[in-house]
Amino acid sequence: MTIDAGHFAELLLADDEPQAFEIVNATGASQLVLVCDHASNRVPRCLDNLGLTPEQLGEHIAWDPGAADVARLLSLKLDAPLVLSSYSRLVIDCNRPLQSPQSIPEQSAGVLVSGNQNITAADRACRVKNVFVPYHHAINQLLAARQNTPTVFLSLHSFSPSLEGQQRPWHIGISSWRDHTLATLLINALKKYDDILVGENEPYAIDPEFDYAIPVHGEGRGLPSAMIEIRQDGIRTAAGVAVWAERIAKAYRETERVGFIG
Ligand SMILES: [Zn+2]
Repeated sequence: MTIDAGHFAELLLADDEPQAFEIVNATGASQLVLVCDHASNRVPRCLDNLGLTPEQLGEHIAWDPGAADVARLLSLKLDAPLVLSSYSRLVIDCNRPLQSPQSIPEQSAGVLVSGNQNITAADRACRVKNVFVPYHHAINQLLAARQNTPTVFLSLHSFSPSLEGQQRPWHIGISSWRDHTLATLLINALKKYDDILVGENEPYAIDPEFDYAIPVHGEGRGLPSAMIEIRQDGIRTAAGVAVWAERIAKAYRETERVGFIG
């Protein structure tokens, strides 16, 4: 009997571990499709937490805390389909092109990810095949099935209140790539709250060299698209999640009311 190394390299997720994506409200009636690329900090058991502590895996380097909670509530409020990634961005980042150096980061925000040091091409291919590909295939299938249905595409993220010692003043940021129409409508709707500072392409602009969901699934398909980033200190509690889900839902409904969509 020969040992097929390629076969072993393909094993990443055990039978009792979740598949790479979760779809919520797949048949939701809304024109809106939501995705949450950094929903989870789960690491497949065989990767042994990538050598990180539970505390490190709880930090924003591993996921977007609170983003999945807001996304689920938005999906419910707006009756919108939602696709969430089931694994940490440190396993493979589902919002980075595969050629990006940050696809499987060797370090993140100064933290060395020992399980990502000098990984083999086979290990890399294994993560692509078992996590990245099925997650994006699920989004592709969902969008392909709606080819004749007016569709709006939003990705939901959260960002840390400070980065490299710099406080970030925005409570929420709305970003777009080349077509700013939807983003501008959402920004204008959110600016009606006096106590909210809205980032415009802040804290992150979209660059197809570093971003995947909006350039590929959203604008890449010609869909009205935007990326929403919520500051994490606003969504650490269920009450905060509820407040932000309601604000975003209201802003989204306003974009529908001006007749932009559909
Ligand atoms: Zn994110």
